[in-house]
Amino acid sequence: MTHAIPLGLVGLGTIARNQHLPSLEDVPAFRLAAIASRNASLDGLPGYADIDAMLAAEPDLGAVSLCTPPQGRFAQAAAALRAGKHVMLEKPPGASVSEVMALDRLAQAQGVTLFATWHSREAAAVEEARALLAGAMIRRVRIDWKEDVRHWHPGQQWIWQAGGLGVFDPGINALSILTRILPDPVFPLSALLEVPENCQAPIAARLSLQTSRGAPVEAEFDWRQTGPQTWDIHVETDGPEVLLREGGAKLFVDGAARISAEDREYRRLYARFAELIAAGQRDVDLAPLQLVADAFLLGERQMTEPFHD
Ligand code: NAP
Repeated sequence: MTHAIPLGLVGLGTIARNQHLPSLEDVPAFRLAAIASRNASLDGLPGYADIDAMLAAEPDLGAVSLCTPPQGRFAQAAAALRAGKHVMLEKPPGASVSEVMALDRLAQAQGVTLFATWHSREAAAVEEARALLAGAMIRRVRIDWKEDVRHWHPGQQWIWQAGGLGVFDPGINALSILTRILPDPVFPLSALLEVPENCQAPIAARLSLQTSRGAPVEAEFDWRQTGPQTWDIHVETDGPEVLLREGGAKLFVDGAARISAEDREYRRLYARFAELIAAGQRDVDLAPLQLVADAFLLGERQMTEPFHD
């Protein structure tokens, strides 16, 4: 039996409390050993104002998990990597593609693991969808990712600022699944980005993409959806018709329900982080973030009415 790796967690916000803390209790490979938070503390755990103070005071930490917003994550990750720690990044892995490439090189030079996580890829039905599509000719893909930002992101200012991604903050989850399940690469042809006039990031986006074999992929991301929420990916092929619903938790094949399972995404992420560390490997797939960056490169921006929480 190997010893649990002491882990320091940075940023005690929504995702840290809802997913990281309960998952860490269930994954024996790690032991939560310290917290870095500007505002919060946890009973019985050493707490520090920021990651630099945590790294200085806790030399025995083996790993660091960053649950902060993407802007500012580079400096935190670089500090942890330079201190020789294995690092796990929330999605999106950074505020730009090139900063994450720089982190990956730093991790390689330091000989430590960098894991850029994509939690939606760990949803229950994603791997089965990938297997079904492995030998298929893709005919058409349709993504609908529509949710109510006021419900899911109340008071979060960073998502509206540059590098916060706006509606691509959830939308990148769809793109992380898409790039996992399709047998061919995809790239955007055009994008329409609706940006509230008081924000720097889009509240809605429509993307037209194409697979490398020419199949159209239409994606609609919208943060203004009240009522039922939609996280669907529909793939038509020359073989089975594959529909992922509820963010990859449910799978329908040719209209028939095949998988519906409980959410274990973050437990699987921490288990995978432990495997990567044990194997001395890194896992940094930038494809989803690259698609978002390309959508910004190609996108036509349309101003919309101001957004107020
Ligand atoms: P959040 O609720 O705003 O929490 C982020 C935490 O990071 C804050 O509570 C704060 O913790 C710390 N922080 C450090 N610098 C900050 C800054 N300049 N502005 C705001 N917070 C700062 O955000 P979140 O929803 O947890 O999202 C964090 C990351 O997880 C994002 O990349 C997001 O895409 C990802 N994620 C979120 C969800 C979700 O459902 N919310 C799901 C999956 C992934 P301290 O006060 O402790 O310092």
